[in-house]
Amino acid sequence: ARGVRPSQYATPLEALRAVYGYDAFRGDQAAAIDQVVAGGDAIVLMPTGGGKSVCYQVPALVREGTGLVVSPLIALMHDQVDALLANGVKAAYLNSTQSAAQRAATERAYLAGELDLLYVAPERLSNPATRALIAQGTLSVIAIDEAHCVSQWGHDFRPDYLALGDLGETFPGVPRMALTATATRATHAEITERLHLAAAAHFVCSFDRPNIQYRIAAKTDARKQLVSFIRSQPEGVVGIVYALSRKQVEQTAEHLRAQGIDALAYHAGLPADVRARHQSRFLREDGVVMVATIAFGMGIDKPDVRFVAHIDLPKSVEGYYQETGRAGRDGEPAIAWMAYGLGDVVQQRRLIDQGDGDRAHKQRQQQHLDAMLALCETVQCRRQNLLGYFGEESAPCGNCDTCLEQPETFDGTIAAQKLLSTIVRLKRERNQSFGAGHLIDILRGASTERIRGQRHTELSTYGLGADLTDADWRSVVRQLLAQDLIASQGEYGTLGITEASGAVLRGERTVLLRKDVLGRTSGSGVRKA
Ligand code: ADP
Ligand code: ZN
Repeated sequence: ARGVRPSQYATPLEALRAVYGYDAFRGDQAAAIDQVVAGGDAIVLMPTGGGKSVCYQVPALVREGTGLVVSPLIALMHDQVDALLANGVKAAYLNSTQSAAQRAATERAYLAGELDLLYVAPERLSNPATRALIAQGTLSVIAIDEAHCVSQWGHDFRPDYLALGDLGETFPGVPRMALTATATRATHAEITERLHLAAAAHFVCSFDRPNIQYRIAAKTDARKQLVSFIRSQPEGVVGIVYALSRKQVEQTAEHLRAQGIDALAYHAGLPADVRARHQSRFLREDGVVMVATIAFGMGIDKPDVRFVAHIDLPKSVEGYYQETGRAGRDGEPAIAWMAYGLGDVVQQRRLIDQGDGDRAHKQRQQQHLDAMLALCETVQCRRQNLLGYFGEESAPCGNCDTCLEQPETFDGTIAAQKLLSTIVRLKRERNQSFGAGHLIDILRGASTERIRGQRHTELSTYGLGADLTDADWRSVVRQLLAQDLIASQGEYGTLGITEASGAVLRGERTVLLRKDVLGRTSGSGVRKA
């Protein structure tokens, strides 16, 4: 039997109160919902936790027909549908995890007009048969969640999203809504263009999460720093520690446990039952610290996470924002803490170099990394930098490490010139290039076997940098890398000059460096070997 799902509620507010039990809409929710209920298109940019789901679910409940939701993450789809069913909303999904019989049952329910919401994975919609099926029913609204996946410049590009552009032509008269929690100005423009949403109304919420305090420390001994950070927190708080590799996750969790911290590991390589056990302990118990790869946290609704710590540098500001955004979703004070160092920069650049993709792709990844480094090395307010990245202007926040403790800067032009000319001379005179350690040894006038063997004592810059400690120099190198005044190159991450280096060498450009990050690396002094 064919049918059209009737309207379940007369007004959006009625739906909000009956289904979700909330008194009022938040922020732009009401305006975005009104736009779509009236039949218009909408683009909604709202940070994680802002309440995007309500924005498309409510119109589906108020309008006649079934709401079609395009969602890229199957796990999230399941969670959403379960939550909706528990609230008495008729929701279902179509994806690759289902049997043919389950799919057929969902299709029948849709055509019979029994569904308020139908979730589909984007690749399903590339399939003409799926589109034909959907066209036989009646849609109330089309929602495209995680709309930033359409951006080829973004960090999360999914080719299937490009095919969503013509949904407006396939289903004329059905209002469309694109939603995302990560959109720079460029991504926002791409969403508008590629999803053919030129006539849409735009709802851009602030991305600020004022209750999150941002802190970024120079990495000396990440695990030791992490332990003292966690110990500085009140007893019993729950937190997440993000690391890049599975090995790092396991070793860090073990290290924390050895220090008496109730830490659990979580990554895709662990058996499903272990992951499930760890996740449920994290959700239910006090004082659990989850050490995880970034796969953990998506779709996990734990509002009272008090800190998110990164011991490896995230690949992009978008990633950093998303991951730190899992802290303090209850609005209470929370901390985003990170330790990063030169090793992170070198490792990430190498991963990009050796990774897949063409030159343009690598360049984009490089740009993402540079933006991340700029946030780490900024002498200004972290939040200002972060929000600025998302196209939002703001005043210094007073709730980040740089605001709370103004970083002192100093004129690092001469130090930069010493390092740059050492690099240039080695290349020009001997066709050699080296990593930071050896270059610093030269500048510090160290007498290592390698320096003697290579007769680097004869270089004119040998010993010229003895006024700074080894640790200071490491920080200078890191900051110059961040400012793109030197570049890490090749398989071994040796240091080379960049286009911008020339102006510094010629004395045409002043280099301002952060003073407070100097000397934080556990220095070994001048190495004698
Ligand atoms: P997003 O998808 O934007 O990350 P969600 O839709 O998951 O956010 O919503 C985040 C949380 O806020 C959820 O627990 C949701 O139920 C809650 N929420 C959404 N809208 C409201 C509202 N108007 N009032 C109170 N809580 C809300
Ligand atoms: Zn600040």
